[in-house]
Amino acid sequence: MEVNHVELVMSAVDPVQYPTTGYPEIAFVGRSNVGKSSLTNVLINRRSYARTSSQPGKTQTLNFYNVEDQLYFVDVPGYGYAKVSKSEREKWGQMIETYLTQRDQLRGVVSLIDARHAPTADDIQMYQWLAYYDLPTLIVATKSDKIARGKWNQAISQIKKSMGLQNTNNIIMFSAPKKIGKDAVWNWIEEQAFG
Ligand code: GDP
Repeated sequence: MEVNHVELVMSAVDPVQYPTTGYPEIAFVGRSNVGKSSLTNVLINRRSYARTSSQPGKTQTLNFYNVEDQLYFVDVPGYGYAKVSKSEREKWGQMIETYLTQRDQLRGVVSLIDARHAPTADDIQMYQWLAYYDLPTLIVATKSDKIARGKWNQAISQIKKSMGLQNTNNIIMFSAPKKIGKDAVWNWIEEQAFG
């Protein structure tokens, strides 16, 4: 999709605040600092549609971005940020669980992991949780420009094994600065949202 217009329409904590327009929604989840803002900025051709997170983990709301009056990107606050308190973590968990399990418009979840390392326990738990709820999930391995091309297959196999996947169809190697993987991610999103 060629994107010219994107607008943050709502930062929501509670379902009553979710937009009511009814467009399909694609959620983005991942650990703080994994490259979520960078990925979404590449997808929508922006230098910055929100801040890149100089204060990781700070945004504790679901941010709904209207993309071309056709769909919403829903930025889910990053998990695995050590500095938040236990009660904040629980609040975060409830907010996300409510959104991911109860939102009819949700068509798919883009789950980001860092291509340089094996998936963390948090990454695996998130993936298994999404699978349990039957949510179509695309795994995007970010920062792939930081590992040699010759190691990509190894990285993909590692992800497949850690996540317990049947195949590697829904794993995409991505690089924000090189814009590698952009079309593949968009294809998946469009298929989920409109296919
Ligand atoms: P967020 O917290 O998940 O939104 O992560 P950001 O998008 O803010 O990225 C965190 C840091 O990783 C920033 O310094 C980015 O410039 C860097 N980064 C993100 N994606 C990539 C990538 O694909 N390649 C490289 N080399 N760096 C990246």
